[in-house]
Amino acid sequence: MDVYKHTIEGLKLEGLSRAGTGTCIRLPELGICFDVAQGLPFAIPSEIFLITHGHMDHAGGIPYIVSQRALNNLKPGRFIMPHELKKPMNEILNTWAGIEGFEYHYDLTGQSPGDIIDFKPNLQIESFKTVHRVPSQGYILKQRKKKLKLEFENLHAEEIIALRKKGTPVEDIVLDSVLAFTGDTQIEFLDVSPQAAMARVLIMEVTYYDSKKSIASAREWGHIHLDELIPRLDTIRAKKIVLIHSSQRHSRVEVLKILDARIPTNHRERILLL
Ligand SMILES: [Zn+2]
Ligand SMILES: [Zn+2]
Repeated sequence: MDVYKHTIEGLKLEGLSRAGTGTCIRLPELGICFDVAQGLPFAIPSEIFLITHGHMDHAGGIPYIVSQRALNNLKPGRFIMPHELKKPMNEILNTWAGIEGFEYHYDLTGQSPGDIIDFKPNLQIESFKTVHRVPSQGYILKQRKKKLKLEFENLHAEEIIALRKKGTPVEDIVLDSVLAFTGDTQIEFLDVSPQAAMARVLIMEVTYYDSKKSIASAREWGHIHLDELIPRLDTIRAKKIVLIHSSQRHSRVEVLKILDARIPTNHRERILLL
């Protein structure tokens, strides 16, 4: 499986995503990994693993990551997942620790959509509801930034410095949605979690791209067909939309050709394929 590397809106991103093969995408600078595929070496050093749902090609690698981190003397891995997944995953890990004959150390956190984690002093992770065949959620990364208060926007630099010296708070802390990651979902995530489409970068699944699979059959399996995304593009505010999870029925070259032919020109530039 090829691991792709991109820099999107200043953010380094590496990983792979194919329906049924594996999805694991890492932001190496932030120590964040979305889903773990079946367990791949490049993901091991991440600080936090954000699991979207329990399908094997997204979450099957959790025991591998836990085990490898232990063998490499890394801190226990921190895994965030839909709360329904926590108990069965704990049982799997206990069983596998028994098979391997050593103790696993790990931190599983079950979450519901809307839950927030303070990950770093300037970074928050918020989960959002997605629509799939099993309990699922996506994640938005929000960066805390200082922004000059509106009432001081027209002041000169010296005046602001003077206010600061007097102890007047001149800045507000704002949350900037840097990136949203959907995992597997139907197109209705845009309706139930419109905030995801407001992030600067939206990483979202589109599994099927042409008539090899109908919209109905994509929906039956909880996935998105390109024909469902195209009419929604005007409502998606993200600067860049990164498409992941294409079906193995399509080659990468074929998907790129379809995107060139089908995506309206005013949107083509902001759409990337992982
Ligand atoms: Zn999948
Ligand atoms: Zn799935």
